[in-house]
Amino acid sequence: AAKNGGRGQFRFYSADLKDEEEERALLLDDLREALAADELQLHYQPVVRISDNMVVGMEALMRWEHEERGWVPPGTFIPVAEESSLIAPLGEWALHRACRDAMEWPETVRVAVNVSARQFTANGFVDVVAAALQESGLAPDRLELELTESVFMGDSETTEVTFNALKKIGVRLALDDFGTGYSSLSYLRSAPFDKLKVDKSFVDTCTQKDQNSAKIITAIIGLSKALGMETTVEGVEAFDQLDVVKKRGAELVQGWIYSKAMPQAMVLANIHSGEFKIEPSGPDKHRADRR
Ligand code: C2E
Ligand code: MG
Ligand code: MG
Ligand code: MG
Repeated sequence: AAKNGGRGQFRFYSADLKDEEEERALLLDDLREALAADELQLHYQPVVRISDNMVVGMEALMRWEHEERGWVPPGTFIPVAEESSLIAPLGEWALHRACRDAMEWPETVRVAVNVSARQFTANGFVDVVAAALQESGLAPDRLELELTESVFMGDSETTEVTFNALKKIGVRLALDDFGTGYSSLSYLRSAPFDKLKVDKSFVDTCTQKDQNSAKIITAIIGLSKALGMETTVEGVEAFDQLDVVKKRGAELVQGWIYSKAMPQAMVLANIHSGEFKIEPSGPDKHRADRR
């Protein structure tokens, strides 16, 4: 679709495309208002160490309950924000909130925050990270920034400078959704990632007879280890999947088998004498939960 066509530029529309564009513009307005009115939320999804069920981290996932539309998934509103400059203040809000919330957790629990490519490459991003740490008092190595390969699509020099500055601050970097998109192993050669997150799509198919997805999971975990990185396997929903990824060498798992994302109050309610542990459980439990 032609988007952002400048003045006087010729654009073709189908009625549907025009509707879609208007719809996105409306959503963006509402999102801007929601951010200003402090109506956005962060929920946290545990990352669990399989060997002892200890929660070692929590991924911050944005949640938005729209007064008419109900819960709008981040898969819908994040791309809209990414197309505009709103992603920068939205991401800044998330960083500050996540760091503040993590200060109330055990020190052994990290917080992971998703960072859009446009946010990462914007001027001042490193300062925003430093400010969030300073304001909250969170130790830098308890903050993990989740990036996707799209950060490499921009100017490589800027990207490298940003990476170096972030490493100097001492935050951790994770490569999200690994194995999908434009995966190139060359990114791993030079970028200082501390963690790879195996994309859910491999887990979805890891119990299939041909075993290709399971083998790819083994290979990604091996690659990650060889390069001195941790690995989180994302999107594990069922016991048979947990069994497969465990056999394939997974140590850290994030998925509905342990828990969906939950609000900060529920996180705090789950911490007992400075510990947060979760047993894996079947699908029944999840039906009751809100996303
Ligand atoms: P992501 O960073 O890859 O986050 C993981 C997504 O997988 C989350 O979806 C999570 O709820 C979902 N998930 C985790 N375990 C399972 C499982 O066992 N089964 C299923 N079906 N899903 C599972 P969510 O919260 O809808 O977020 C979608 C995407 O939106 C995220 O993917 C991330 O790319 C983006 N996003 C969310 N919050 C933020 C944010 O604060 N900033 C930015 N830039 N992006 C965000
Ligand atoms: Mg993520
Ligand atoms: Mg992911
Ligand atoms: Mg994703």
